[in-house]
This record gives sequence, structure tokens and C-alpha cells, in this order.
Amino acid sequence: MNLRPILGLMLVTAVVCASAALAQDKGSVDPKPLPPLANPNDPKLGAKELFGRKILPAAMPTHVVGFYAKGCIAGAEGLPINGETWQVMRLSRNRYWAHPDMVALVRRLAARAHKDAGWPGILVGDMSQPRGGPMFTGHASHQVGLDADIWLTPMPNRRLSRNEREEMSAVMMVRADRLDIDPNAWTPTHLNVIRAAAQEPTVQRIFVNAAIKKALCREAKGDRSWLSKVRPMYGHDYHFHIRIKCPPGNGSDCESQTDPGHGDGCSAGDLAFWFKDSIIHPKPPKVPPKPRPPMTLAQLPAACKQVLAAPDAKQ
Ligand SMILES: [Zn+2]
Repeated sequence: MNLRPILGLMLVTAVVCASAALAQDKGSVDPKPLPPLANPNDPKLGAKELFGRKILPAAMPTHVVGFYAKGCIAGAEGLPINGETWQVMRLSRNRYWAHPDMVALVRRLAARAHKDAGWPGILVGDMSQPRGGPMFTGHASHQVGLDADIWLTPMPNRRLSRNEREEMSAVMMVRADRLDIDPNAWTPTHLNVIRAAAQEPTVQRIFVNAAIKKALCREAKGDRSWLSKVRPMYGHDYHFHIRIKCPPGNGSDCESQTDPGHGDGCSAGDLAFWFKDSIIHPKPPKVPPKPRPPMTLAQLPAACKQVLAAPDAKQ
């Protein structure tokens, strides 16, 4: 059954998230609708205000515009919130939209997590908003339907309730000293699932916490070429992040990122930066940084205006 959440309600999350959206951020089964904008044409208005009010994708052919951290998507597809081997989490965020290639990839990965890793399935975190674009909370990227967060907690062997999908926490994979994985949480099946994602030809990068990268480097047997795509990143200790390349045939509107090098990124030198004390235990700045002004619509590619203006796709 493909239960759509209540689409008439939009997220106003009370959770203010300082860094990348963590699996730990909770949502609400009863999100308050966003108030209408007094002046939607104000050029200084944050683009997130406009994209965050779109409940459905643009009724346009599928098309990616811009870069992972500065763009939007027309004709996105919604991942059904329940599959045989997956369930979507934090439904109130309405971020289970993506390019059809990414939706297909998540479905394949879910099947492989079941078949190869023995998980009942995967829990899917944020992908993109229905029309992509910047968000109220979390992520700088996830703007063009080519990024997806997958929880490092296997799907339970039952259908989660709406409330559990907002409230349930993922399991922390990193040891308290941040230098390695927590052996009570990490299992060989986690490697299987991350490897299955990295071996997908369209995947360009996978982001994990450096402690997880270290564990993958230590434990990967046989072909290790997939490790080149798995990159250490701040956060990502409860989930991993999959990024796919610009879809073939999308044209030059999709701004690609250079492929990572071929090395496995496992040498002591490769990992040293991430385990420096200043990175693991950053000192709070003496002067709190000024909040950056939000990205405006004018700062996004011009075609994103049409994506916003288009009528809702029929679901
Ligand atoms: Zn992510």
C-alpha cells in the first residue's frame, strides 16, 4: 500500500539544526501549515520559503537544474513511503522526492540490503523536496534530486507507525572517542549495504563519518575499487549519503562534480586530517559567526523560477 502522508500539511519544524540534518532530528505527525507569504515576490526572500511551500513536484518533464547545493528539479518522482524492503522516515519533512534514477536506485539498494546483507530492508531519510531547492533545516545539498540519506539502522521487521517515523532515532555508529566505529553497533552487514550502494555505476560519491571510512578500509576484502567513492564527511554517523552523477541526457543545466580519484582513500595520510583533535573536538568560535543570509531565488539558476511557477504534478 502506498500511503501518502497528509500532503496538505507542511513542515514547520521546531527543531533548529545547526549542521547537516541528523537522523536524530525529530519531526511531528501534526506539522503546522506554513503561513502564506506576505510578499512572495520580494527579491530578498529566501528561496527556501518558496520551495518549502511546494507540496508536489512541478508538472514538467524531469529535469535537473543547477548543482547539488544550489539548484532545483522539475518532474521529480516520489518514493512510495512503504516498499517491500524499505520505509521512508520523517514523513512530515516531505523530502522523499528525487530524480527517477535515484528513486530506482534506492529501490535496488533496498532489495540488495535484504538479499545480500540480510536486513529486512532500509530506512530512507531525506532525499529532496518536491521541487528540490534549499530547505529550512539541515542540508546544504539535496537540492536537485540526486542525493539520498540512508539510515545505518536496518529497517525493523514490521511496518513503523507515523509517529515512530517522526520520533524513532537511528543508532550512533561512532565510538564515544570518535576515533573508530562502535563495535556494539557496527556489523559486517553495514559494509555490505554501503558497498552495494558504492558499486552502483551512477553513484559518484558516498559520504560517511571518517570512523566509518576507517572501518570500511580495514574490513573490505576482495575488490576495493568501490572504496574510492566513499568519502569521509562531518556528521554522517547515523546515516550515509548517496550522491549520483548528473543523469545522462539531462543536458548542461545539471552541473556535475568531478569524479573522486581512483585511490581507496585508506592510507594513514588520507585519514589523518579527520582524526586531528581540532577536527574531532572543534573549539567553539570566540565570536559566534554571523548567520549567513539565506539563498535567494535570484541566486539560483534562472530556470528554477519556471520550476517554482509550474502547476502541481498530478499524483
Ligand atoms: Zn545527506
